Amino acid sequence: MQQQLTLQDIYRARRRIAGLALRTPLVRSEALSRRWDCEVWLKLDSLQPTGSFKLRGALNALLGLEPMQRERGVVTMSTGNFGRALAYAGQHLGIPVTVCISRLVPNNKVEALRQSGAELVIHGDCQDDADREARRLRDEQGLAYVPPFDDPLVIAGQGTCGLEIMEEQPDIDLLFAGLSGGGLIAGLGLAVKSVNPAAEVVGVSMREGAAMLASLAAGHPLQVPEVHSLADSLGGGIGLDNAWTFAMTQRYMDRGYKVDEVQIARAMLHFLHEEKMLVEGAAAVGVAAVEQHRLELSGRRVAFVVSGRNLSNETFAEACRLAGERPYAYL
Ligand SMILES: *Cc1c(COP(=O)(O)O)cnc(C)c1O
Repeated sequence: MQQQLTLQDIYRARRRIAGLALRTPLVRSEALSRRWDCEVWLKLDSLQPTGSFKLRGALNALLGLEPMQRERGVVTMSTGNFGRALAYAGQHLGIPVTVCISRLVPNNKVEALRQSGAELVIHGDCQDDADREARRLRDEQGLAYVPPFDDPLVIAGQGTCGLEIMEEQPDIDLLFAGLSGGGLIAGLGLAVKSVNPAAEVVGVSMREGAAMLASLAAGHPLQVPEVHSLADSLGGGIGLDNAWTFAMTQRYMDRGYKVDEVQIARAMLHFLHEEKMLVEGAAAVGVAAVEQHRLELSGRRVAFVVSGRNLSNETFAEACRLAGERPYAYL
């Protein structure tokens, strides 16, 4: 086992990324607090300049590079949000960024990447194909490979989100976040449990293609088929050679839930109707988990990481159909 990450790494990340990533608001949800008879807080990382929390880890990874690597540039693989964040970070720091994505990535995210200034490579039909291409470019062009989650600097960057939550509301005792590769849960869990070891950290994935939950159940990293979901930002594997996030999720995540597409759709529409926010499926899975699994929250202080807002019109229309509502004309 390699060296472990500590709270210090998260403080270091925060000093590095301050001013480039937003310290996002933590706002109380009256609607959800009333509905579940508890205190509900929403951590609005959807307000980050690139529309997701991924900017935290991307900035920390680039700011941690050696000067020679900075000059040569970096390559990554991403469903969209990490690639977009790394492209933005590269532009602001003057570091060339190449992003490899699969053909499954939705159009709005591809378009955003094209406009971000990054070199875009579309390769294969799943994230693992895109990842192989990224590693090939690393070897061929001498680029530094920045993984979207399984990296200590990325995890420490994502952890700054948890630090902010606990500084503002240290009595929060239950936290929900979307779970894919586990970078968010790993960083969040480390930060939260360093401040309050009794706080519970819950990860939520979609029903099909929940690679981390399958891996945790098996006791080792597993490959699972990638399936279309409203929570498209949660797709993809955890890497069979996972070095960081699998062990950290095992250690810091207390419970994991899967949610059905229709529940994700309803939760997205909750955000629209009650919170007046348009969010991604991946950002709504926590609320979906409470509803689907009828979790008892009475009297608790609960935070949800609202992790992203990069929602395509097509996916939003699909959510409306699934939830039994007519798509909205203004989209
Ligand atoms: C990447 C992402 C997640 C999951 O983060 P991991 O670190 O891969 O577990 C959740 N929500 C959104 C919006 C994301 O982009």
